[in-house]
Amino acid sequence: MRTAVLAIPVAQIAYGLAFWQPTLEEACKLEGLIAAPLRSTLGLPLSTRRLNLFAECAILPLEVLRAKILAATGIRYWGTVSKLALGPQRQPHPMVATWNGTLHRRRPAAPSLADTRLPLRVLAAVSFLGVEIDGSKLDLKRAALTVAFSQAVPVLPSGDRKADDSGLDNSGPGSAPVSHLARWKRKAGVSEYLQTDSRQVACLRARLRLDRSSLAESLFRRRDPRSPFCCHCSPEPDGGKAEETLEHTLLRCSAYAGPRQALQLRLANRFPLDCNTILAGPLPGVSPRASEEVLKATADFLLDVFRIRGQL
Ligand SMILES: [Zn+2]
Repeated sequence: MRTAVLAIPVAQIAYGLAFWQPTLEEACKLEGLIAAPLRSTLGLPLSTRRLNLFAECAILPLEVLRAKILAATGIRYWGTVSKLALGPQRQPHPMVATWNGTLHRRRPAAPSLADTRLPLRVLAAVSFLGVEIDGSKLDLKRAALTVAFSQAVPVLPSGDRKADDSGLDNSGPGSAPVSHLARWKRKAGVSEYLQTDSRQVACLRARLRLDRSSLAESLFRRRDPRSPFCCHCSPEPDGGKAEETLEHTLLRCSAYAGPRQALQLRLANRFPLDCNTILAGPLPGVSPRASEEVLKATADFLLDVFRIRGQL
């Protein structure tokens, strides 16, 4: 699905993006077009945050995609960033003037390298996504500098990312912060489980990772007024009831003791039985075969758990 999304909507949107600056509303619609097939393939609700979804699939959000395209275009046309950053007294190449004229049609203010917020924002977005721009830090710097020079992407003061999200996302109240996925995303690129899991398991894992699961605590926090407590567990000795959180369901709830024991046997003390292992697989550095084994074992565990819950 990622390949199809890159080949069709992303490629179509990227075409000419260097010479056209979408408004926030247009960006929202375009990102929606990219997100919709990914969301429906993974069985995720509309409230799923787009940035999290893009991070799972290693797809750049529109503003970073545009930054990358601008950098590539700039570097292709004019060779180096140093040539791009000419002072006002030096005459730029006619092509530069044309390009800048196109870029700044909607933005009369003169470009300035003094504004450092934009490259920082691009860097922050890229580091959050775990996606490298063209594979090297040098390219990343070039991208950030080029974007700073062109000022082609609207700069939002720090903290406005949230406001930006509310415009671009339709996440409901109580949804986890954008950084929620950072807990489970272990390395750059497409999340490993998306490449190994069956679609059924990938949907389960994606919902758990992106905090869009059917667990009572998650539902209660997001929208459901019913109880956040686990219906399988009796009150604890201190009278408190166990909330049906991710940790409770995967690691502690007695209703799933059988599948958990089977998983423990398969992990055979080589890998810790924790939420990280279950949702993200082993730490980077283990052999691909061991990693595949862990993902397979945890996939079977998740299937068993959701079968017991009657949700498969
Ligand atoms: Zn329980």
